[in-house]
Amino acid sequence: MNILALTFSDCVDDMRRRYDKSRFYAVPLYREVFKNGSTRFAALPEFAKVPALVEALVRDVRLPACRIAAQQEEDGVIKFATRLADGHHVESVVIPARGRTTLCVSSQVGCRMGCVFCATGGMGFVRDLHAEEIVWQVYAARFMLKQPVDNLVFMGMGEPLDNIEAVLQAVRVISDQHGLDIACSHITLSTAGHVEGLRKLGAANLPTLRLAVSLHAADDAIRTRLMPLNRRYPLARLKEALRAFPLGKKGVLFVEVVLLAGVNDSQEDADLMIEYLRDLPVRINLIAYNPGGADGFVAPSDKQVRQFRDWLVAAGLFARIRPSRGQGVRAACGQLAAAPRA
Ligand code: SAH
Ligand code: SF4
Repeated sequence: MNILALTFSDCVDDMRRRYDKSRFYAVPLYREVFKNGSTRFAALPEFAKVPALVEALVRDVRLPACRIAAQQEEDGVIKFATRLADGHHVESVVIPARGRTTLCVSSQVGCRMGCVFCATGGMGFVRDLHAEEIVWQVYAARFMLKQPVDNLVFMGMGEPLDNIEAVLQAVRVISDQHGLDIACSHITLSTAGHVEGLRKLGAANLPTLRLAVSLHAADDAIRTRLMPLNRRYPLARLKEALRAFPLGKKGVLFVEVVLLAGVNDSQEDADLMIEYLRDLPVRINLIAYNPGGADGFVAPSDKQVRQFRDWLVAAGLFARIRPSRGQGVRAACGQLAAAPRA
């Protein structure tokens, strides 16, 4: 039983199918794994009278063969690398802020999208993560690193909408109230603008899940230069998909903009962005470029970043500057990539 890939309801079904046992036994099993981070079922009072079931569970219930291969910390930010069963690595980042802790998880080893400013994009695509490998990152942060994970963001390695089935199953497991219980309203999925994936996500009926779109430029030539994905899904198609997307009750769309000096930080760039976003319910996060992408990019000055924000705000948009943390251990946005030496 590949337990980290199962919602509580999947677990109930498995309990019935495999062992012909009721929900009564799925409750302590699921609780022990997802609330206590343990697979020691023999000691649980609910199982006292069913030693044969305990034996079967001890034999069958499996966590993925992942382990924490490396861990680095700076200023409260913890970056950890997970070694997957096949020897590949992905990175995750724990970010404590204002009494809440956010975990940034990876959805793929590498990334197909090839954004030129991103270290993950630079390593190319290796493979999709399975649902349980995504859930494992949360499990590891909670029970191995003992971090309270309140919020989750899919902003680590990979394009989550390029691995949508596994990501959706992971979201269902992570938000399950019987288990890890991180509400969808505390989970943000960030996409580079994968239009086909947006359609599938919109149909998935997770109305409180938060959506972030990495825009970076509202001019097709600039955006294509930065993000090859823009050739397949240009700005007009992205806009159509965003307007059609069911944003749920709160109706907020987060927009991420990585500012690169001399590339997308001029007043003209701001004006195009204002025009593009005007009729969408957006909150814009501006991030100054973190070193790690292709050669030749530099971050704008703090003053220029503030100026860019002021242009957006003056046009009536909600925009704020997101400070980068964890740069010293290459844990900031766009810096996740390198596999630790074994
Ligand atoms: N693939 C998804 C999610 C992972 S990237 C996406 O692109 O949205 C998470 C965020 O980090 C994105 O907004 C991305 O644009 C940003 N990012 C990538 N490289 C960066 C860099 N070098 N400096 C700052 N932010 C970067
Ligand atoms: Fe992939 Fe996002 Fe990096 Fe682009 S920015 S290469 S989509 S991880």
